[in-house]
Amino acid sequence: MSLKSELYRDMSFSSDVKKELCTIEHSSDCCQRAEAYGILYYGRAFGKEEISLTTDYDYVAERYISAISYLSTYTPEMIVSKSGKITINVDSYEARMEILNELGYSGNERTMRLLTTNIENECCFGAFIRGVFLACGIITDPKIEYHLEFDVAFRTKSRDLIDMFEDFPVTPKQSDRNGVNIIYFKDSSQIEDILTVMDAQMSVMELIGEKILKDVRNNVNRKVNCDSANLRKTALAAATQTEAIEKLKSQGKFDDLPADIKELAQLRIDNPEMTLAELGASLSKPLSRSGVNHKLKKLTDMTK
Ligand SMILES: [Zn+2]
Repeated sequence: MSLKSELYRDMSFSSDVKKELCTIEHSSDCCQRAEAYGILYYGRAFGKEEISLTTDYDYVAERYISAISYLSTYTPEMIVSKSGKITINVDSYEARMEILNELGYSGNERTMRLLTTNIENECCFGAFIRGVFLACGIITDPKIEYHLEFDVAFRTKSRDLIDMFEDFPVTPKQSDRNGVNIIYFKDSSQIEDILTVMDAQMSVMELIGEKILKDVRNNVNRKVNCDSANLRKTALAAATQTEAIEKLKSQGKFDDLPADIKELAQLRIDNPEMTLAELGASLSKPLSRSGVNHKLKKLTDMTK
């Protein structure tokens, strides 16, 4: 299965993150306004003809409704389709105009552009991104891959969103999928930064936990590979040495060897699995690893 289909198959992490974001209490008026602007502006439609959002999650729908009630005197209702999709539609023209005017729009703009006046203070950036993520964000389970994206239907709006990340240490990538502009992040630390700025503390911890687990798994694999490479090397060297010793024996040269070398040679033949250091330690006069290496080399050289 390709990663892309995994992305759409497993939405559980996305829904967990969104659920967490929807429990965050607004710390100030300016941030509440910024989040409301983010979720409205990046919802399905935002203009005098239509202001609406579709979502799979009732908590996101509730958050959208409270954003509308915060900005206007209107409270829209949820419509749930047979498939479970939830739509919220501001179906009163007066209410749509009230919302647009409140956010600095006349309703007659030819192209909607982002108004940074609605993201007033430094504290508001995270709240705004939270609203945008609730409206059009997707995050993949970090067990599968690191991927966070915003799906934006309009090119100008996607450009506006990229501009918003200008002062952020993270630069998003862009692509196109079936005419939808995708702004995405692939790096785990970038995704961590975005979850942090949105104040999704639990989700950040989960991501970091998953990252640590992955690191541990990689280290264990590396160690196992390294250990078996060393074992192979030891076994190969032992076989070469044993062969040389057997050859000296068959040539009748073994008995003439100096006593210390003879002891080492016998030890080698009896213990093919021992490392050089272990051989050295087992001698009647213990030798260092390099001392053993030197003597064994001498032995094998004698057969050449
Ligand atoms: Zn603020």
